[in-house]
Amino acid sequence: MVWRRDWDTGQLSDRAKFSILAELGTGAQVTPTRGYGLDYAASMDLNYPPEAEAFRSDIRAWLEQNLPAGWFEPGFQMSESERKTFNETWTDKLFAGGWICAGWPVEYGGKGLSLLQQVVLNEEFAKAGAPMRADFFGDTLVGPTILQWGTDEQKHEFIPGILQGKIAWCQGFSEPNSGSDLASLKTSAVLDGDEWIINGQKVWTTQAQHADYVFLMARTDLTAPQHAGISYLLVPMHQAGIEVRPITQVDGSAEFNEVFFTNARCAKNNVVGGVNNGWKVAMTTLGFERGSSSTTGYRRFLKEWESIVQDAKRLGKNEDLRVRSELVKAWQKVKIMEVNGYRSLTDSLNQTHNTALLGACNKMFWSEAHRSSMELALDVLGMEAQILTGRGDAQGALPGHRRGRADYPVSDTQAAFFFSRSETIWGGTAEIQRNIIGERALGLPKEPKAQHS
Ligand SMILES: Cc1cc2nc3c(=O)[nH]c(=O)nc-3n(C[C@H](O)[C@H](O)[C@H](O)COP(=O)(O)OP(=O)(O)OC[C@H]3O[C@@H](n4cnc5c(N)ncnc54)[C@H](O)[C@@H]3O)c2cc1C
Repeated sequence: MVWRRDWDTGQLSDRAKFSILAELGTGAQVTPTRGYGLDYAASMDLNYPPEAEAFRSDIRAWLEQNLPAGWFEPGFQMSESERKTFNETWTDKLFAGGWICAGWPVEYGGKGLSLLQQVVLNEEFAKAGAPMRADFFGDTLVGPTILQWGTDEQKHEFIPGILQGKIAWCQGFSEPNSGSDLASLKTSAVLDGDEWIINGQKVWTTQAQHADYVFLMARTDLTAPQHAGISYLLVPMHQAGIEVRPITQVDGSAEFNEVFFTNARCAKNNVVGGVNNGWKVAMTTLGFERGSSSTTGYRRFLKEWESIVQDAKRLGKNEDLRVRSELVKAWQKVKIMEVNGYRSLTDSLNQTHNTALLGACNKMFWSEAHRSSMELALDVLGMEAQILTGRGDAQGALPGHRRGRADYPVSDTQAAFFFSRSETIWGGTAEIQRNIIGERALGLPKEPKAQHS
């Protein structure tokens, strides 16, 4: 067996490295042992260095000074007008504190925080339940992608605008027949002098109706193999060649859109990462989509789990053996998410470059675990789950919280249930993550491609 031969020669196969990663915590020492069911085991050291702890105190102090009085007291509530004021002023405070995209380089307006500082920052905000600005497409996806792949010109043109929340973005990847099989996309971009001329259609484009720019995957070489003929373009949305058609959902809201491009244009220089190199650039974006908030992601699931336990107690279901057993399983999964977060952090700190693989593993795991825990939440509520008990958008949720529309006022639990159904789909489905893990981590044979006659 390859695995044993590796062990005998002392050479680490990719699988061995992956297995070690699974066991590492921050700053962990690797001590290979033959363990039960594990080829390698390692001790975990989850302590942060003293300077990170000092930074933690600074963040906590800033939060205490800037959050509304009483925020940290049990049962804290804001009136509608207090909440409105909070929502209107919080982003400015974050910006003044330098906490938005704080890891970005100082020369583009960031604070240049180290990775560990960013982790500590995220942890303290998450612990406090204080919202970070959640401009997902700009802050989390295209901003870091431009920083990694963009030209200096592109960084100066786009990064400050993203940081200040002045440019709204949407993601133009999926097409009607190219979702999981993204490389088969057909939207084309042809160079005409100093501009790209774009034709085609995208679908499921979240927030396209509010976006100023789309980061778009388009085919720029029809003769090259599928993955090699794609470019990653930054295209202005406000132009005659782009039509956005909202897709109305069952609750009446229209978060997604179809986007049609008919001789739409963008500047020749708006290609990120080089012409025909768009596949690699897009994989970077998807890595950020699958792997964000490594050590804090589990907290929202833990909070939800606590609320399911409260509901079970309130409804007398905590004595039900089946419910108890399901609650334990759900809690175990949250703990696994926590450990998975440390795995990702370790990978980044040690620069072992397994981000994409760990992202696939984590995305598959948390999205499926969350879907089943939200099914449990509704099972526990029973008939109560049918009643809309939320307050709707009208009262204004905190930034980053999901709510139904004013006339479809789902509770937090109901909103989380609905959204959990989409989590195994967006950013690459759970099945596709399994294919990635199977082929790249476990070394299984490549998936056979369909034969076309
Ligand atoms: C909430 C939400 C927001 C989204 N926002 C955006 C956005 O802003 N921009 C954007 O570009 N896209 C967006 N999408 C689209 C999303 O990326 C696609 O839905 C996703 O990639 C799946 O593609 P598809 O819908 O075409 O499904 P398909 O690819 O047709 O898949 C259908 C089913 O077949 C399975 N399947 C397909 N291929 C394989 C395979 N090789 N092996 C095993 N199983 C397979 C899939 O797992 C799935 O269960 C969003 C989707 C959702 C749900």
